[in-house]
Amino acid sequence: MSEHFDVIVVGGGIAGLSASAYLSRKQKKVALLERAVIGGRAVTIRVKGFSFNFGAHAIYGRDTSVLRTFEQELGLHIDWRDFNPNKAHYDLGAEMTPVPVNIHGLFRTKILAGMTHKIAFAYEVLRTLLRLEQGHPHISIKQWLEQHDTDEDVKEMMLTLGSSNFFTSEPEQIPSDVFFNYYRRLFLSTKPVSYIGGGWQSLIDEFLRVIEANEGTIVTKCKIEQVQVDGDRVVSVRTADAEYSADEFVFAIPPKALVGLFEGTHIEHAVKQYDRYSPTTVVVYDIGLKQRIEVPYTYINDVENHMFITDISYYDTTCVPDGGQLLQATAYLTQADIGNKEVFQSIKEKIEHMYDKHFSGWREQLVVPRVSQRAVVQEIACRMNQQAMPIFFPDYRNLFFCGDWCEGQGQLSELSFSSAYEAANLILQKRGDFSEKDKTVWQKQ
Ligand SMILES: Cc1cc2nc3c(=O)[nH]c(=O)nc-3n(C[C@H](O)[C@H](O)[C@H](O)COP(=O)(O)OP(=O)(O)OC[C@H]3O[C@@H](n4cnc5c(N)ncnc54)[C@H](O)[C@@H]3O)c2cc1C
Repeated sequence: MSEHFDVIVVGGGIAGLSASAYLSRKQKKVALLERAVIGGRAVTIRVKGFSFNFGAHAIYGRDTSVLRTFEQELGLHIDWRDFNPNKAHYDLGAEMTPVPVNIHGLFRTKILAGMTHKIAFAYEVLRTLLRLEQGHPHISIKQWLEQHDTDEDVKEMMLTLGSSNFFTSEPEQIPSDVFFNYYRRLFLSTKPVSYIGGGWQSLIDEFLRVIEANEGTIVTKCKIEQVQVDGDRVVSVRTADAEYSADEFVFAIPPKALVGLFEGTHIEHAVKQYDRYSPTTVVVYDIGLKQRIEVPYTYINDVENHMFITDISYYDTTCVPDGGQLLQATAYLTQADIGNKEVFQSIKEKIEHMYDKHFSGWREQLVVPRVSQRAVVQEIACRMNQQAMPIFFPDYRNLFFCGDWCEGQGQLSELSFSSAYEAANLILQKRGDFSEKDKTVWQKQ
C-alpha cells in the first residue's frame, strides 16, 4: 500500500479541487485522485487560439458566494469581470427589450407592459427580500404564484427569470422554496453576475497553486475502481494497480459513479435514489470568429425558444486570438429532448438563425465552431420530485460527498463550492481543527 493520508479526495472537478485546496491550506495531508484531467466539467479546450470553456463561467451573486469565501480564505487571485446589465436584452421576436436586472432595466423593459405590472414586480422583489415570500418544498413555483393570485405578467416575468438562472425550459417545475431562497440571495447581491478573466482554467490553476504550496498530492489518470470498507469506516480506495489509505474520504464524483464503486455496501443503496434523478442538460454551440462583430448586446435571451447567446470574449479577452470573438449559445433541453436527433437538428438551426439575426456576417468570420449535443450543467436538476444528495450518510463515519448533485447553496458551480466547503469543515470540526474564527465564517454560510 502507498502512503497514508489525512484526507483522500476522489474526483478533481471544482468541488474536489476546492475541498482539497481548503483542507491542505488547513495543514491536512491531502491526496486528490482524478481519473482524467483536473477540472471535470469545468475543463477548457484550446482550439486554434480560442479557449472553449466546456461550461460558461458566470458566477451568480459572487459577493455572497462560497467561492468568494474560498477567495478570501485561500488568498486566490481571481480576475473578476462584472456583467454589464445595460447590455443584457430579451429577444421577444419582433423587438428587443432590456432584461430587468436592475431598477433602470425594470423601468425600460417591455417584458412587463405598463407601470402597474412593473410596480407589481418590484413589490414581489421586495416581498422576497423581506422573506414574506418563502415558498414551500411541496409546492412548485408555478403553483405558488397561482395560489397567490400573482399578476399574470409578473408570473411570466418570474418564470422567465427562473428559466435563465436554473438553465431550464420548465421553470414551472422549480420548487417554490428553492426559487425564493435563490432570488433572495441574488436580489441582495450587488454583483448579480460576474465572469472570470482567464475562464475556469484560471480558477483551477489557483486552487492547484494552493494545493501545491501546501504540499498536497495530486494524482491524475487515477481512476478509483474499488472502495475498501471495514465496519462503519472506509479504509482505502484502489485503482487497477495502486491502493491509497486515509483517515477521512471525500467523494466528489457523481451518484452514477458512486453506485458502482460502493456496490455491496449500504452506500450503494443510499445513493441509488440520486442516480435515478435527471440532470439539467443543454445544447451548447460556441463559435470562434476571426474578427469581432460589434452589437449593442453581450447577452441575448430568446424567450420563446429557451436559448441565449453570451459574448464570452467581451468579458474575457484572453479566450480569443487578437481581434477575435467567442460567442456561446446555450439551449435548454427537456428530458424528452435528450438524444433525439431531430430535436437537436432543429435546435442547431434555431441557434444559427439567432446568430444570423444578431451577429450578421458571422459565417464569413467563422474560424472554429464547437457543438455539445448534451452538456450536463447540473447533475441533479432542481425540480419537483427530485432532491439533492446529502453530504454524508449515517452508515459511514469518515465518508463525505460534494458536487453539484449535493445539498448546498445556490445553483450550478455554487452547489459544488458550497458542498465542498461544508464537507471540508465537517472534517476539520470532527478532527478538532476548527478555530473559533472558522466556526464564525462557516456558520455565516
Ligand atoms: C454548458 C455548461 C454551462 C455551465 N455554465 C455555468 C455557469 O455559467 N455558471 C456556473 O456556476 N456553473 C456553470 N456550469 C456548471 C459547472 O460547470 C458545474 O456545476 C461544475 O463544473 C461541476 O463540478 P463538480 O466538481 O461538482 O463535478 P464534475 O465536474 O462532474 O467533477 C467530477 C469529477 O470526478 C471525476 N471522476 C468520476 N469518477 C471518478 C473515479 N472513479 N475516480 C476518479 N475520478 C473520478 C470526473 O472525471 C470529474 O473530474 C455549466 C456547465 C455546463 C456543462
